[in-house]
Amino acid sequence: MSRRSSVWMAAGIAAAFAGSVVMAAAQQAAPKPAAKPPQDKTKLPELSAQEQQAIDAAVPSTATAKPAKPRRVLVFWRCEGFFHGSGIAGGNRSIATMAEKTGAFTADFSIDYADFDAASLAKYDAVVLNNTTQLAIPDDGKKQALLDFVRRGKGLVGIHAATDNFYKWPEAAAMMGGLFAGHPWGGGGTWAVKIDDPGHVLNRAFGGKGYKLKDEIYQFKDPYTRADRRVLLTLDLSDADTAKPAEKGGRADKDYAISWIRAEGKGRVFYCSHGHAANVFADAPVVGHFLDGIQYALGDLPADATPKR
Ligand SMILES: [Zn+2]
Repeated sequence: MSRRSSVWMAAGIAAAFAGSVVMAAAQQAAPKPAAKPPQDKTKLPELSAQEQQAIDAAVPSTATAKPAKPRRVLVFWRCEGFFHGSGIAGGNRSIATMAEKTGAFTADFSIDYADFDAASLAKYDAVVLNNTTQLAIPDDGKKQALLDFVRRGKGLVGIHAATDNFYKWPEAAAMMGGLFAGHPWGGGGTWAVKIDDPGHVLNRAFGGKGYKLKDEIYQFKDPYTRADRRVLLTLDLSDADTAKPAEKGGRADKDYAISWIRAEGKGRVFYCSHGHAANVFADAPVVGHFLDGIQYALGDLPADATPKR
């Protein structure tokens, strides 16, 4: 090494050292980044005019069944865990539009646990859990009231994250029919869905044809089983892109149900894992499936819930 280059090197090291001192001083002087305010999970994002139009247009003008009597649903959308703002806003608008356009029911929207009081529940024919997460329904009679509500003959509907609740309440997890166990199929993807039971009345909206949808698709852990329900829709693993995420682990039985109905005592449960974001509620066949499922839960649309493998 020449003398000249070693001098250059020494100068370089000195400059680097000086630089690091300056940087350290700058870091010390810099104000601390403001702490992120906690997310307000009571405030839904506003849907654009275009989204609103698309959601309204996807709702059929008539419901499949004529209600046997005036029906009322409680749409509950409280989140203690992950907050699906877009999915909740889209689902709430879709359900409000169903009520307005078809007259199949009237809908109340709530995030207040007081609505699970037995006396309050008595006003309703079905409860819809629209993307609720980690619900902590008080154990002061309200939890039992919800179980009794369904088991004595009313309805329960679950949209998307409705299976992301009840991890410590096995009876409710079994009532809904499964617990969230990840989503190998991310919300940015478009996934193929197969009609499990093309002749089933609740699959009427699909006209017997499978479809592709941009949505986040869940996999489930126990108490998910086909033994106590009729599965209506399943991921179509014959589609190469849809099969890929299942290769990295997932269920040994490759059973990725999306929608099902089941009897709970004298009551009826309909769950569909679609609904991660508002775009799902602009898909007419999927919205038709939701409306038919709600009418099944209400007791107006008779459907076979016996298990079928
Ligand atoms: Zn989601």
